Amino acid sequence: MSDCIFCKIAAGDIPANKVYEDDDVVAFHDIKPAGDVHFLLVPKRHVESLAHCGADDAAMLGKLMLLVPKLAAEQGLARGFKTAINTGRGGGQEVFHLHVHVYGNK
Ligand code: 5GP
Repeated sequence: MSDCIFCKIAAGDIPANKVYEDDDVVAFHDIKPAGDVHFLLVPKRHVESLAHCGADDAAMLGKLMLLVPKLAAEQGLARGFKTAINTGRGGGQEVFHLHVHVYGNK
């Protein structure tokens, strides 16, 4: 989506402090961290929110979930971490491109 900030980050068109990237997924530090560590895991393909996912998205969602503990450990969240997927305006979603918040203190 041309006006989506996370699509632009995924495409490398605007800078972000990336912690992981492959063909399907990018992860980068949140600009307003809610802890010592706070990164966002994002599918490169534009999906508006969790509520817009269907059966075709099962592999992508599984991949995101399995990356969460791996990347959290790599970022030093050895004691544990929180995850959140804000969905819809009522769920506090501000950027309408699916993303998983991973955050915590070292
Ligand atoms: P939401 O409320 O949609 O779940 O969270 C969106 C998150 O994206 C917020 O925590 C916000 O700080 C982060 N964010 C918004 N714009 C940018 C940006 O341009 N770069 C980065 N790294 N994070 C952003």
